[in-house]
Amino acid sequence: KLVLGIETSCDDTAAAVVDETGNVLGEAIHSQTEVHLKTGGIIPPVAQQLHRENIQRIVQEALSASKVSPSELSAIATTIKPGLALSLGVGLSFSLQLVDQLKKPFIPIHHMEAHALTIRLTNKVEFPFLVLLISGGHCLLALVRGVSDFLLLGKSLDIAPGDMLDKVARRLSLIKHPECSTMSGGKAIEHLAKQGNKLHFDFKPPMQRAKNCDFSFSGLQHVIDKMIMQKEKEEGIEKGQILSSAADIAASVQHTVACHIAKRTHRAILFCKQRNLLCQSNAVLVVSGGVASNLYIRKALEVVTNAAQCTFLCPPPRLCTDNGIMIAWNGVERLRAGLGILYNPEGIRYEPKCPLGIDISKEVGEAA
Ligand code: ATP
Ligand code: FE
Repeated sequence: KLVLGIETSCDDTAAAVVDETGNVLGEAIHSQTEVHLKTGGIIPPVAQQLHRENIQRIVQEALSASKVSPSELSAIATTIKPGLALSLGVGLSFSLQLVDQLKKPFIPIHHMEAHALTIRLTNKVEFPFLVLLISGGHCLLALVRGVSDFLLLGKSLDIAPGDMLDKVARRLSLIKHPECSTMSGGKAIEHLAKQGNKLHFDFKPPMQRAKNCDFSFSGLQHVIDKMIMQKEKEEGIEKGQILSSAADIAASVQHTVACHIAKRTHRAILFCKQRNLLCQSNAVLVVSGGVASNLYIRKALEVVTNAAQCTFLCPPPRLCTDNGIMIAWNGVERLRAGLGILYNPEGIRYEPKCPLGIDISKEVGEAA
């Protein structure tokens, strides 16, 4: 079985061919990050245009690299939810044309399901396991019971941690910092934090009183914004210049974010253990998404998993961020399980918003 996966839900145009055992036969990716970094965020029509300009070439490159002829494919799997409407639209219409041309089955993919299942391509991980997805667009904790069987334990009530770190980095003008100018916001914060004192600013971890697994980052972001403004006044510098206390701020922010994420995750592990929802002999926590590459946050999560006797797993960095491999692999998983394979995909629509699985976050809060 060979699956072609196509991803265009946000700002990466990606494709890959993966076989039944998880061998990656070919892959290609075009990242729009550089363009969006210049405009200070993603402008959807710009993202759409770039997907349109690149999708044909990227799919062709993935296929050529795999040395698989299109007729040998078992199915085409494409992200159709959630994501930016204009971006999802490009991947879906391209895929539907291809499906029609090649007369192949179509497998619509949920982007977050794909992130969650990626670990099964690289490691031998059985269901059920716990997953924490932390990126620029997403923040959730879920129990993965099967290929398409998720219990949502908690999510961010506002923005995702990567989004928040990006905003703080922008506010600190780290793009002008000689050491960080080419880094994403989150990476720049991690880099600068190494030179700062994490206890210098005492930001309170969010939602301390809410005994559930939900997250919040925008309140903290506003507190930091205000503090930066005050520091700018104190140091007598203009907005847009780099504060002398930037490294201390970066270290304190990273520390607070890590504490918040670790605490919510700890609660999720305890909840699942209490209810016997995880494997008794080997409970597993999988962490993925761009923010998972932060070593300080990882350390905090390792402390929590060690204390709860839980195995901590992360896919390799290149599979933690958006890629075509995870979409193709999700296609393989669905093909093996016989789930959601469409032989006549006419009328299928993309869905910009789509929660993952059954939301039991209220129950988690009540149990605490
Ligand atoms: P999606 O949410 O759909 O997965 P995305 O493009 O926002 O899309 P990723 O590519 O997974 O997500 O991750 C990008 C995010 O990860 C950015 O917000 C970036 O700042 C953050 N990030 C990257 N490296 C680090 C790091 N070392 N520490 C913290 N955050 C990081
Ligand atoms: Fe993603």
